[in-house]
Amino acid sequence: MTVSPVEFVRPRAPKPEWLKVRAPGSENYLRLKGIMQDLHLHTVCEEARCPNIGECWHHGTATFMILGDVCTRACAYCAVSHGKPHELDAAEPERVADAIGKMALKHAVITSVDRDDLPDGGAFIFAETIRQTRARVPGCRIEVLIPDFQGIESSLRAVLDAGPDVLNHNIETVPRLYRMARSGGRYPRSLELLDRSRNYTPAIATKTGIMVGLGEEIDEVVSVFEDLRAAGVSILTIGQYLRPTPTHAPMVRYYHPDEFADLKRMALSKGFVHVESGPLVRSSYHAHEQADAFELATSR
Ligand code: SF4
Repeated sequence: MTVSPVEFVRPRAPKPEWLKVRAPGSENYLRLKGIMQDLHLHTVCEEARCPNIGECWHHGTATFMILGDVCTRACAYCAVSHGKPHELDAAEPERVADAIGKMALKHAVITSVDRDDLPDGGAFIFAETIRQTRARVPGCRIEVLIPDFQGIESSLRAVLDAGPDVLNHNIETVPRLYRMARSGGRYPRSLELLDRSRNYTPAIATKTGIMVGLGEEIDEVVSVFEDLRAAGVSILTIGQYLRPTPTHAPMVRYYHPDEFADLKRMALSKGFVHVESGPLVRSSYHAHEQADAFELATSR
């Protein structure tokens, strides 16, 4: 199957209509902002300058970023600060659980910066955050979006043993672009992590996300879909890469919403249980609905 021909939009052209969002500021948005500030918590929504923050926070959805706000890697597409991280904060899991309770979340997404400076990559803090959240908010579904832990299998197992509902690890881009976009990552290592997860805990849904607009070819994206299905991944998100600042990797082109619809059809034809595909889709965008759809499909 091929993607429908659509007009090529030059990177320097004004942002297309479909990427324009309303400025945040609703009452609920301000309430969440207050909770995060009071508890000294970080969110990827803010750190990564996510365009959906107004909508997600208005609906009470936020992605917690644990293990500090300084990443030990410097991926070319990512707006999160990088450098030497601060000391580990052992009380962070409890504060995250507290915030999830205060926000009365039914589906919480927890991610982190990369912590290659720690022997376990921060897996213990992930596991502890899952455990504390389970204890404090028993009805809340927990999705973790984890780093690759440099391929350390015991770190992945420590997170899975804590019992998240969804194990998410983003593949981000096609293998050819890893060196440019994700120099600290390895495509086979990310695939291996997803494959290990489904083998170790088949009941925990595995999920991943890919950005388009970094210069990939459609055939390469389809190959990634096939690799992901071979690794047993069930849920896939596909979104538009947006360059956070002029010092980040260039955005090669905008994809039209029709192209996202085509990508979704192609991915579904490969066997994913649920695919969320659109210009503003991020791995945690509508995460609640994605997990609902997965549960529905797998309970039949
Ligand atoms: S899509 Fe994810 S990162 Fe963006 S605002 Fe929503 S929850 Fe936060």
